[in-house]
Amino acid sequence: MIYCVEDEASIRELIVYTLKKSGFDAVGFPDAESFLSMLQKQLPSLILLDIMLPDDDGIEILKRIRLSARTREIPVIMLTAKGSEYNIIVGLDSGADDYITKPFGMMELISRIKAVLRRSAKDEVAPIRIGKLTIDKSRHTAAIDEERLALTHKEFALLCLLAENAEKVFTRDMLLQSIWGYEHMTETRTVDVHIRSLRAKLGSCGDYIQTVRGVGYKMGGNL
Ligand code: CA
Repeated sequence: MIYCVEDEASIRELIVYTLKKSGFDAVGFPDAESFLSMLQKQLPSLILLDIMLPDDDGIEILKRIRLSARTREIPVIMLTAKGSEYNIIVGLDSGADDYITKPFGMMELISRIKAVLRRSAKDEVAPIRIGKLTIDKSRHTAAIDEERLALTHKEFALLCLLAENAEKVFTRDMLLQSIWGYEHMTETRTVDVHIRSLRAKLGSCGDYIQTVRGVGYKMGGNL
């Protein structure tokens, strides 16, 4: 199901008609209010969102979509009459997956929609579960018993690498190469520092990361 939020009736109707002819289910909304109330009831697989709406601003709506855990992952393509870089950048920074400047051809719109849907399907990776720990790479989150962990980018990358290769022993050099890529001539001690802080954040699951004396670290299996 694709939702198309566009106040100009002729454009909205043409989009909905074209989507349906291309095999998509589609519903059009002339304003933010009708769209948001439908969003409460049923989630679409993609949203086409106009920026200039009579009752709200598409960029503000997009921000709200991205803030809510329920709607965060829905791909959004912004439809904009304004081609200025400013609007494009604001739209992308607020989390749009793509934007298309009016006037646009229907073939182009359909191919953009298919590309965004393909991309978001690829991002969906099944969460990794080890004991009480759940790592969701597509959402970039890790949690213990549903409690979200506040990890830094490097800690998260480290946790993913170890968890995806449970029982495999990584030397400090291997971890440096994979996570840091020797980007700042990092010392192997950096690995120990990050492991220590990661274990602390894992709390009761801290011992999932085991030290293999004289070699490095591994994520213990059978937890
Ligand atoms: Ca408009």
